[in-house]
Amino acid sequence: MSIFQDAVDYAETLRKDRAKPKIKGVTRRVTADQVLRKLDALGLNVNSERTLQRYVKDKLIPMPDRKSLGRGKGRITDYAKETPAEFYASYKLRHEYRIRSSDVISRCREKALIMENSPDCPGRSLAEWDFSDDPQVFFEVKCGELWLMEKHKALHGSKDVDCEVCKYLRGDMFY
Ligand SMILES: [Zn+2]
Repeated sequence: MSIFQDAVDYAETLRKDRAKPKIKGVTRRVTADQVLRKLDALGLNVNSERTLQRYVKDKLIPMPDRKSLGRGKGRITDYAKETPAEFYASYKLRHEYRIRSSDVISRCREKALIMENSPDCPGRSLAEWDFSDDPQVFFEVKCGELWLMEKHKALHGSKDVDCEVCKYLRGDMFY
């Protein structure tokens, strides 16, 4: 499969996600407070929802759903359950790996998510990018792998030895 096809598939996934009228029943959603508490547990001192909103705007974490509670009752913001882990990964790229540009981090995240969602063989998509002659793309692929490593560290630490994505990142798999 070509990189172009992956990009098309990814665009299609995004389009379908946006078209979905409701959150699937199996998807657990979380409030901003729960996200902040989880980040605290992960060792990140982020104490304001405004920071979450900035990360959303910069495409460093998933776009939350904003819903009205009904007339005069205000609105709630539902964050995807992956939000704390993705915040952690994007935060690490910025503060630990010293990538200052939000645009670059969001492109690393985009590539990482394509890889993570690659159905039959995790890592295939990024592996194809590895052969890119464009040094910036190469850089974003490598940082995308770091992003994914950090996301999974936040998701399940080293507990889930059966995680296909982590196996790929450790180099256990042939691809
Ligand atoms: Zn994993």
